[in-house]
Amino acid sequence: MSIAVAVGLPLGLVLGYRGGWADRLVMRLAEGVNAMPFLLVAITLIAVLGPGLTKSMVIVGVIYAVMVLRLVRGEVLAAREELYVTGALVVGVGTTRLLWRHVLPNIAPSLIVQVTTMFATSIIVEATLSFLGLGTQPPQASWGNMLADAQASAFDHWFLALPAGFAIMITVLAFNLFGDGLRDLFSRESAGSVLNANAARPLVEGVVEREHSAGSVGGDGDPLMSVRRLSVSFPARPSSDERIDVVTEVSFDIGRRRVIALVGESGSGKSVTAMALLGLVPDPGRVTAETIGFDGRELTGANERELRAIRAREIGVIFQDPLKALNPAFTIGTQMTESMRVVEGMSKRDARIRAAELLDMVRIDRAADRLDDYPHQFSGGMAQRVMIAMALSSSPKLLVADEPTTALDVTVQSDILDLLRDLQAETGMSMLIITHDQGVVADIADDLMVMYAGELVEVGTVEKVFEEPRHPYTAGLLASVPRNRRREGTLPSIPGTVPALDELGPGCRFGARCPFVVDRCREPVDLVGLGDGAVRCVRAPERLALGDADIWSGR
Ligand code: ADP
Ligand code: MG
Repeated sequence: MSIAVAVGLPLGLVLGYRGGWADRLVMRLAEGVNAMPFLLVAITLIAVLGPGLTKSMVIVGVIYAVMVLRLVRGEVLAAREELYVTGALVVGVGTTRLLWRHVLPNIAPSLIVQVTTMFATSIIVEATLSFLGLGTQPPQASWGNMLADAQASAFDHWFLALPAGFAIMITVLAFNLFGDGLRDLFSRESAGSVLNANAARPLVEGVVEREHSAGSVGGDGDPLMSVRRLSVSFPARPSSDERIDVVTEVSFDIGRRRVIALVGESGSGKSVTAMALLGLVPDPGRVTAETIGFDGRELTGANERELRAIRAREIGVIFQDPLKALNPAFTIGTQMTESMRVVEGMSKRDARIRAAELLDMVRIDRAADRLDDYPHQFSGGMAQRVMIAMALSSSPKLLVADEPTTALDVTVQSDILDLLRDLQAETGMSMLIITHDQGVVADIADDLMVMYAGELVEVGTVEKVFEEPRHPYTAGLLASVPRNRRREGTLPSIPGTVPALDELGPGCRFGARCPFVVDRCREPVDLVGLGDGAVRCVRAPERLALGDADIWSGR
């Protein structure tokens, strides 16, 4: 294994990174070696070099080096496309250092797992070669020799093969289990691995007691989604028992045919809230809620399989960076038709026709031709259209859009918003749109939720909240947006930053930045219904002069 790694690893790194004729030549040779039966290659080489433990292990090492090389080269090819490699190149890191310090640590886990299992097979190979008299030579002992000796007297003393046989079996088993353990360990450490989520893991791990609830807007009494006291926590430090709520007791309704916007500063918990609704919070995260109702069903007890079915058919999702959400290895057509074929059992032809219709619906020209293009042939705006088309392919009742225009060029942002608005009106689906752009809210949302440090601080209809914000934070957010009517002076801003979630006091989380703070704000503040919305501020009923931008300009 040392020979295999010493030869295969550097070769794989360099060939994978450099490419070119050397890479092609070595890979063809490697494929040639791989195409031949492993043992025959080893036996042939031993026939040339002569038997013996050292020689046979050198030969095995060289043959395994080919496998290590192929593995490493493949991983490097993938890593080369990653932005962190480009980033390292940009800051002037040399090739050796780049491969050693930036690429190798990222491919190390799969390499270590692979090498561990190769250990197991190399023990079997040694035993086989020695059994055939080509490996270890007597009087040196090896398990393979012992098996060969035992075979000679198998009819008189059958049990002689047992000790060596068991020793081989247990050692190989141990290495395999060790490899499995390492694989589990590494996959747990790779962050955000929702795919590894336990299929039996419920959406919600703790159902909290029913209590008062506030904060429903756009209600016609029968909301599509109804969320009460949803909290999400992460460990305070890796592998510590102490947990921090990054989302605290969030309650809201999403009305049928309504567009609800969730706004707040970066890090306030918007994405995590949306992920929690979809059962996509990555592993050390824990979700608790009183209820999460969706279209007449209760999701708090749903497991991963049931959630997957709901996500596949009834809830569509689009993310911030469309190009990252598309697999670069497959054509757009393949990716669009995959779920239609798997989930709905459509034939390949029907699925392609439907995919072309969908691309046409999101206003992509020459839709049928573009199905055979790869993601890199699409611009960001086009890729987001593809994502929207995929999200809508099952005619969902709810579309969750997490900052769908943030990663896009400003010139295409409004096109995408127009498209979303038109599609929502056409299909009558509900939409939860996460954004930090007031313009987006004003443009397409009916209802608005404002989040601050993991809590909802104000909910209401967009019209009402924009006209008369009740929470000082909402007012500050609104005042900090450039508007045509204010062309002079500095743009107001909210002083200070969002508090760290692990050092929150019991009182109002916005207190430290609020110009209206009073003593009462140091005690816990509830989200209280006010008009047809709700607000979390003890001074909300006083009708403070929140709209006055000067309060927020720090003057
Ligand atoms: P945003 O409002 O910008 O979408 P997020 O919902 O992404 O904010 O994040 C909210 C908080 O949750 C942040 O403080 C972030 O550090 C924390 N958080 C998000 N994902 C994880 C995770 N996988 N592990 C630990 N903390 C996380
Ligand atoms: Mg986010």
